[in-house]
Amino acid sequence: MNLSKSLYTKGIQCEKLLWITKYKKELLSSPDASALARFETGNVVGDLACALFPNGREVPYTPTDFQKMLETTARWMEEGLEYIYEASFLHAGILVLVDVLKVTPQGLEIYEVKSSTSLKDIYLHDVSIQHYVLRALGFNIVGDYLVHIDKEYIYSGVLELEKLFKIVDVGDEVGALLPEIPTKLASFENCLNDKENEPDIDIGSHCNKPYECELKAYCWQTQHAIPEYSMFNIFNLGSKKQLELYEKGIVDIKDIPDDFPMTALQKQKVANYKAEETYIDKAGIQSFLETLNYPIYHLDFETFQQAIPEFEGLSPYVQIPFQYSLHIERADGTLEHKEFLAKEGEDPRLTLAEQLVQDIPEDVCVLAYNMSFEKGVNAKLADQFPHLTAHLLKINENIKDLMVPFQKKYYVTPSMQGSYSIKYVLPALVPSMENAYQELNGIQNGSDAMNAFPALSALDDEKRLATRSALRAYCKLDTLAMVKVLEKLKEVCDD
Ligand code: SF4
Repeated sequence: MNLSKSLYTKGIQCEKLLWITKYKKELLSSPDASALARFETGNVVGDLACALFPNGREVPYTPTDFQKMLETTARWMEEGLEYIYEASFLHAGILVLVDVLKVTPQGLEIYEVKSSTSLKDIYLHDVSIQHYVLRALGFNIVGDYLVHIDKEYIYSGVLELEKLFKIVDVGDEVGALLPEIPTKLASFENCLNDKENEPDIDIGSHCNKPYECELKAYCWQTQHAIPEYSMFNIFNLGSKKQLELYEKGIVDIKDIPDDFPMTALQKQKVANYKAEETYIDKAGIQSFLETLNYPIYHLDFETFQQAIPEFEGLSPYVQIPFQYSLHIERADGTLEHKEFLAKEGEDPRLTLAEQLVQDIPEDVCVLAYNMSFEKGVNAKLADQFPHLTAHLLKINENIKDLMVPFQKKYYVTPSMQGSYSIKYVLPALVPSMENAYQELNGIQNGSDAMNAFPALSALDDEKRLATRSALRAYCKLDTLAMVKVLEKLKEVCDD
């Protein structure tokens, strides 16, 4: 059996995933921009964590010649090197690369570096297979550790690695997993020995845990014909009710029996989905519209995150606003557009916050779609910049949420498929904008924007200008979509 530690953890999630990764790789969906950005973050964090273990050497990665990596590791251990990064070991066809290996007179310590801010069970499996291989090779293992980012860390202008990273002793947890490993390996071997037949494994909660499986499109849509919006969107994946329905062969929401026990919210979602006709509660919509007053400031932020904060006062992975779009709608229907897009490579927060308070007076009605996000960003800015706190908090007091009429089911169409996400609401209410996002050049959703902004500095002038213009177009469309949705709400009340 040829297995790496990443294949081992795939097998822990699902043996079908392991088998397909080995024998039908072409079925795996290729990593999207977000996944690529995550890999890049993992590499940067991994390299940085090595500085916690100084004066080590990294075994060069030679995928076509693993033997060379094994030999280099063995040689450096013999030479008495204390720290070896990517130390490589092979036992019974299982190849493991230890992120950081500490060689002590008493034995070896294993350090596995993760770019996340918390410990996950799957990481323990990752360390346990390394421990298993090294122990099988006759080494004495004296420590198992996970190194991960501490989300409480605040960057003060100087990067303090000892504070940025947490080193957690997971020896007990790894010790508890070791006895299971031979059984798991036997099962994986059995599965991989049958090269002709894909394992017959049903979909379930394991498709999302610990990671959203790369094969979901294949297993869910192609093999099981699960529609994009199904009863899985109503009940939590893996919940008793979801399993009960699935076992009865019920996937389409339309097939859920009327007397099936559900919470009021679930019932409402099912009823909305089953609705053959558009339902409009004019009084409800009117009551929402009455909470607004002109001029209305339609606001949308774009943010990005940094695993390793580069700007003072920031913690890892906090949302950093770099852009906003503002459509100012007046009572006579006229629209004015304002926007902000930060310069790449600089801390965008202060310039953004200063322009925001210039663009939005303290006492006007501000509208956002899913306002908790905009309010959260504003609150953080208010915290960071005392001279703007009062104004920013005033803006927050004045924010109203355009999602409310849809969340409260004042306006429901069958094509919304029971959802109140803008992705479903916009085309349902404004068919002329059905393809507006797909027609955008380059940046078509929040993740695209989130990945594009931090990458701007590395682009040449032409590409950078094109990406900046794509970012502006995307964010502007977000607030224009809100204007159009509100227009439709007013229209139905005027009918
Ligand atoms: S989608 Fe689910 S069933 Fe299919 S390979 Fe992934 S985890 Fe296994």
